[in-house]
Amino acid sequence: MCSVRGFATGKELTANLVQHCAAGKGVNKMNYLNKKTVEDIDVAGKKVLVRCDFNVPFDGEGNISDPKRIDEALKTIKYLIDHKAKVILCSHLGRPKGEFNMKYSLAPVAAYLSKALGFEVKMASDVVGESAKSIAASLKDGEVELIENVRFHKEEEKNDPEFSKQLASLAEIYVNDAFGTAHRAHASTAGVADYLPAVCGYLIQKEITVMGGALEDPKRPFVAILGGAKVSDKIGVITNLLDKVDTLIIGGGMAYTFMKALGYSTGTSICELDKVELAKDIMTMAKDKGVSFLIPEDTVVGMEYKPDTEFKTVPSDQIEDNWMGLDIGPKTREKFANALVGAGTVVWNGPMGVSEWENFAAGTISVAKAVAESGAISIIGGGDSAAAVEKLGYADRMTHISTGGGASLEFLEGKVLPGIAALNDKN
Ligand code: AMP
Repeated sequence: MCSVRGFATGKELTANLVQHCAAGKGVNKMNYLNKKTVEDIDVAGKKVLVRCDFNVPFDGEGNISDPKRIDEALKTIKYLIDHKAKVILCSHLGRPKGEFNMKYSLAPVAAYLSKALGFEVKMASDVVGESAKSIAASLKDGEVELIENVRFHKEEEKNDPEFSKQLASLAEIYVNDAFGTAHRAHASTAGVADYLPAVCGYLIQKEITVMGGALEDPKRPFVAILGGAKVSDKIGVITNLLDKVDTLIIGGGMAYTFMKALGYSTGTSICELDKVELAKDIMTMAKDKGVSFLIPEDTVVGMEYKPDTEFKTVPSDQIEDNWMGLDIGPKTREKFANALVGAGTVVWNGPMGVSEWENFAAGTISVAKAVAESGAISIIGGGDSAAAVEKLGYADRMTHISTGGGASLEFLEGKVLPGIAALNDKN
């Protein structure tokens, strides 16, 4: 295995890496595990505004093609109904750019929810206007309203205090259950919490309990697997996790920058030349911290960046000039799988290759299988890795699949998420 054993240590870290290390220090400043949940507040007879993530995909005929996000929100909604709250749901959908546009109306979500709950969810025709207000005012205990897409107002993404206040005036309690937008400081995700008692729903509670728990006090050995296209997108995660993990596994396009740092030729592989020094520093840091740092020993290379291009497997230090690395090779798959045996906690973010293409999906599939079989607390950080796990039918065997790609990445970077920071502490 190409590890950093033997790599020179003691050299000065690049200013860039120092800066990223400093940024990651935010993680322990907020005690995620101390946030109030729906169970910590009396909701009976109260109007409760719930920020959900109903940003669902649609097919060509305007039907919801994957209702997963709505289904996932049902636990919190049902809890509130059962505890006699007057429930006012809100969400964004797509990018209407601050204007009313019925293409992005949440009406189909109201119809889906009505079926799922077995009674009518009252759809408002506006967000904070007469329709939203009059329905909210007439709600009986256990009834549910859905207001229109919060992004129909440009003030939403600007976290405008006046708009936040108007949203808050619909209700007496605020519940945030939209982890996917918790890294954004918008009116409905953060601003509204300035005006109401604010707690999290079950979805956010699970995210912060499982991911926060892994970062604060992981069951060891703690192994992180990072992949995806670029090192530059994951520097924050790498530096934050280097302080916490026992093993760091690097695959995907970002591995080639590390190979370059080890002096290998990388052919036409995706490689960030301006990050080679940083990659060296990361490997030095891993060695200094005693972290086992694994990069691919062999690589599946293709002639061109095409799904049906000619391909072969070569040792990682023998990539020829006209070839590009598009997946990890079979020896690496085995080594990475072995590194997961006996792990206590595994965090995985990013594919091991161009997993969208069948010929270059084997590395990602083998990692998904190895994580599922590891018996570890397994956390899949949204995006492509979550999609791979679901497509392969391993979802049930993972401890937690994050509902937010960008948000989970920022959480793993140690950043404070505004949508969670805004919630009330238990004490
Ligand atoms: P990310 O969003 O950073 O997790 O990156 C995911 C993307 O990385 C996917 O679209 C993959 O196709 C791409 N990717 C993974 N490995 C490679 C590679 N070896 N070369 C080019 N792109 C890759």
